[in-house]
Amino acid sequence: MPSNPDLTSFFEDSDRPSDKEEALLRRIEELVRDYASTTGHTYSPMIRRYRASGVPYCNRKLALEMLLRIEELETLEEDEVLMGTAMTGQLIHDFLEKALEPILISSEEEVELDFGDFKISGHYDLLVKDIDGSKVVIDVKTCSDASKVKPKESHRRQLSVYQAALGGIPGALLYVERNNFRMKLFRFDFDKELFSQVASKIAELNASLLNIANYFGYSKEVKSGIPFEINLNFTQIKDVIGKGLLPPAIPEFEYECRNSWSKCRFYDICYEK
Ligand code: SF4
Repeated sequence: MPSNPDLTSFFEDSDRPSDKEEALLRRIEELVRDYASTTGHTYSPMIRRYRASGVPYCNRKLALEMLLRIEELETLEEDEVLMGTAMTGQLIHDFLEKALEPILISSEEEVELDFGDFKISGHYDLLVKDIDGSKVVIDVKTCSDASKVKPKESHRRQLSVYQAALGGIPGALLYVERNNFRMKLFRFDFDKELFSQVASKIAELNASLLNIANYFGYSKEVKSGIPFEINLNFTQIKDVIGKGLLPPAIPEFEYECRNSWSKCRFYDICYEK
């Protein structure tokens, strides 16, 4: 009769990852990170070319991101900088794109609005056929509880840019609950008033940035009329603040400066004593 094997050491060690497990996990994490960096749309910050997903927010923050050349993924919502959140959003988006195939017209197409002195561009999420066959542009947002979600003003502003770029068509915000895919949809006809507020706000941002560029000797670029980049250091930023050239420290939404879970990366610049 063969004796029963002694499993004591097997069970004792089973919780501890072996070297092979750790190596495989590291490889998988590396591949996931690489893949994640290819999803979404990257934009180099440029004066005269602003991204639709950023335009709803604080002009000072947008200016500082641009002047300090802080690149962001277009798909990242403010305060959702954790890769996990961005990837969940991407997965939900990819799933929806496939599921909505019967009514899908296009997805993630780049649109651009030209205001002469500056442009706003971005990628809408989904363009679909409405129940009556007309077009509706949908921006997809993730949320933790779809039953309690209300359309955010910042999301409406972003949506208004896509609606304008597509000729003033109706739009919708589709909120998808991360854990169970419960959804809530809010439909909006194109709001010209809201859109012109967004455009005026960006015109002010553009004027401030052109002033700053002139101040630092970029007059050729300013005159050229085409998008350009400048890169300032913190000493120059302090100078710009001292001269009152930055947009004022007035956020568009109260939660932008500081809320219970995060604070703006420029908080100390704006509120330093
Ligand atoms: S701290 Fe507030 S005012 Fe300053 S850049 Fe950030 S959001 Fe704008």
